[in-house]
Amino acid sequence: MPTNEPKWIIIGAGIAGISAAVGCVLAGKKVILIEQSGYIGGRARSFTDTTTGEIIDNGQHVLMGCYTSLLFTLKTLGTEHLLKRQSALSVQFIDADGERDILDTSLLPGKAGLILGILKLKNVSLHSKIRALELAFRIQLGNVTASNKTTLEFLNYYSQTPEMIERFWTPIILATLNASPANASATLLLEVMRRAFFGGRLASQLIISSVGLSELFEPIIKWLRDQGSEVLLNTRIEKLNCENNTVVSVTTSKGLEIQSDKVISTIPPIPLLRILPQEKQTSNEFAVLKKFQFSPIVSVYLWFDHKFFDADFAAMLGTKTQWIFNRRRLTVSTQESISRYPEHLSLTVSSGNDLVEITPDDIVKLCLQEIHKAFPNSIHSNLLASKVIKEKSATFLATTEIERIRPLHNTSISNLFLAGDWTATGLPATLEGASQSGYSAAKSALSINYSH
Ligand SMILES: Cc1cc2nc3c(=O)[nH]c(=O)nc-3n(C[C@H](O)[C@H](O)[C@H](O)COP(=O)(O)OP(=O)(O)OC[C@H]3O[C@@H](n4cnc5c(N)ncnc54)[C@H](O)[C@@H]3O)c2cc1C
Repeated sequence: MPTNEPKWIIIGAGIAGISAAVGCVLAGKKVILIEQSGYIGGRARSFTDTTTGEIIDNGQHVLMGCYTSLLFTLKTLGTEHLLKRQSALSVQFIDADGERDILDTSLLPGKAGLILGILKLKNVSLHSKIRALELAFRIQLGNVTASNKTTLEFLNYYSQTPEMIERFWTPIILATLNASPANASATLLLEVMRRAFFGGRLASQLIISSVGLSELFEPIIKWLRDQGSEVLLNTRIEKLNCENNTVVSVTTSKGLEIQSDKVISTIPPIPLLRILPQEKQTSNEFAVLKKFQFSPIVSVYLWFDHKFFDADFAAMLGTKTQWIFNRRRLTVSTQESISRYPEHLSLTVSSGNDLVEITPDDIVKLCLQEIHKAFPNSIHSNLLASKVIKEKSATFLATTEIERIRPLHNTSISNLFLAGDWTATGLPATLEGASQSGYSAAKSALSINYSH
């Protein structure tokens, strides 16, 4: 690319930035993708754990079959085959004392499978299941309103029983919205239910990467370069230089000034605010970005000398640990790792505000106590290594107030477009929301309609 020509600039190489770049390049544009860190993937990345030498993610990510934008991106990058899909939605639930239950939708095709799966749940009353099925039908018929309700208000309004809220709805809300039922926006829950649970068998499949997340997304570097586009890592955008309400250039941390044609920003709200011209920072349109709040996710990786967990993953009930994943069954491991550490688990605590202030050692102790109660066999397994990752700003806090201020892709600056999981996607902060926002911002910048 000649250096003096105005360029299509995409700021941030997370999932939104990667998808925006794919969207623009497929429409025939050359782009320059600029990332402040030395890696691709943003909040969805992997690295080598220094103690065990194993590749782990910054937090276990779960995808769903309804992630059509993200799956398109992976297909384009040639990495879709690295995903492991369930044949139909099936989730095991494990109580604090080890009691097990399962939601298995594979017994009948389509929606009948979901109905039978709910009816066969062992540890909830028939009354609770019928209430849940009634609500499910009403959601599918579009016969519910969520406006301005929290998920808890919504579930109470539609007569969900306390046991169903605790044992069924809460794990879904925490996993998909990263907020407690008392805080989370019901509008977002409804969209998740519509897309994931009522979109058919393929849509509701859970999908997990069999390799570190970075391996899924890093091919974007070669893909873009092969098409005459560029990727700049370790380069922070410090300033958008505007004239007549147009970004004429961007200034980088390396002192470069790059002339811009169109700019798609995929960076989070506060970093975006910092790079805007002063008068825009205080304008009504952008000052509202200061109101965004964030929610943490705490991830705990554990390595043991003996195996004790016999499923791929499970939702834990009545414990701090919410999800437990069996990395030896879900991800590719070397023979050496398997012999040294036969059991390798990852645990997830969404909306984990109370854990953020606790030391990693204490978090591991707490998780071990819970594991020993839920899996009595684990008492014979010695913990050999552990790693705690606290992502303090894992996602925006999905409240009704924040839902109202999520911005659209177009801005008052004529050639500046916004993307990122926090923009107005109609979805919670997810890989799919991020990817969908990237394509939507690309479409707005291109002023064309295309579909994938
Ligand atoms: C622990 C954890 C677990 C999660 N689990 C799931 C899950 O199971 N399923 C799911 O769907 N989602 C999950 N998510 C959410 C998902 O990871 C995010 O929604 C998604 O990765 C956000 O992508 P993004 O591109 O919008 O933002 P980001 O990933 O934040 O990308 C923004 C990029 O911009 C860069 N940047 C910032 N400022 C500048 C600047 N000035 N100049 C240049 N670059 C800049 C950043 O370094 C970053 O790379 C999880 C998130 C976390 C943290």
